[in-house]
Amino acid sequence: MIIARTIEALQEAKKTLQGSIGFVPTMGALHHGHLSLIRQAREENDHLIVSIFVNPTQFLEGEDLDSYPRREEADTRICELAGVDILFMPSIDQMYEADELCIGAPAVRGYILEGEKRPGHFDGMLQVVMKLLNLSGAANAYFGKKDAQQLALITQMVKNYFMDVNIIPCEIVRDDNGLALSSRNVYLEGDEKNRALCLSRSLKRASKMVMAGELDVEAIKKEMLEVLKEADTVEYVAIVDREFNALEKIEIGNTIILVAAWVGKPRLIDNLWI
Ligand code: AMP
Repeated sequence: MIIARTIEALQEAKKTLQGSIGFVPTMGALHHGHLSLIRQAREENDHLIVSIFVNPTQFLEGEDLDSYPRREEADTRICELAGVDILFMPSIDQMYEADELCIGAPAVRGYILEGEKRPGHFDGMLQVVMKLLNLSGAANAYFGKKDAQQLALITQMVKNYFMDVNIIPCEIVRDDNGLALSSRNVYLEGDEKNRALCLSRSLKRASKMVMAGELDVEAIKKEMLEVLKEADTVEYVAIVDREFNALEKIEIGNTIILVAAWVGKPRLIDNLWI
């Protein structure tokens, strides 16, 4: 595995690859969620590039940029074992210059839900993903459904900017208790680990209601909020179609149910595709 810390080193390393490239961008502190993307990319492409970059432009003032978990040694080992060809770990200076040209999230879809609670987050996310996709030269790039709105916006960016890459959505990986894996789960302490399960439980409750024939969005949200009482603060429960338009009735095959809540230190998100 080649470790590239500069753009130049990445370009040099890419010259050694022949065939299709799969790409998995991450912020590191790798867990089995990341690993499932990496495995799928490994299987579906001749070569595999993974990036680890804690992107400052997608963190808002007061968020956890400085304390975000960083585990370079363990991550490097994981990537090596997973058969990664190039691990790209650039510095901030490599990725950004002063007074940059910026792209922005769309005015509606980029500023609801996560975009409303974290204004500017998606601008920074799209900016870095655009850079990373261009640098990787990948045919296929893998993103988790866990970050459903992010996935929708990246898919839209690729479409709107006629970028030559396939965005591949990957299933959410959970622990045995149902908690969606996240690098931020390490912030959970004591009983918060149990209380954090209320997010996935609320989604399970929603799923059961739908299976029993309930399609009314307000009725489902109300039940979910009951289950979410164990969280400290619920930021939103939303039921949208796959394009992130609000729904009044569940549309089987075209619905995403999303939840964001604080449990102790971390802000957690989870969702269910119906
Ligand atoms: P992050 O390092 O949190 O920026 O995540 C990098 C990629 O891994 C993103 O595409 C995430 O959606 C994806 N990811 C994170 N957690 C999970 C999970 N539990 N299941 C599936 N994909 C995930």
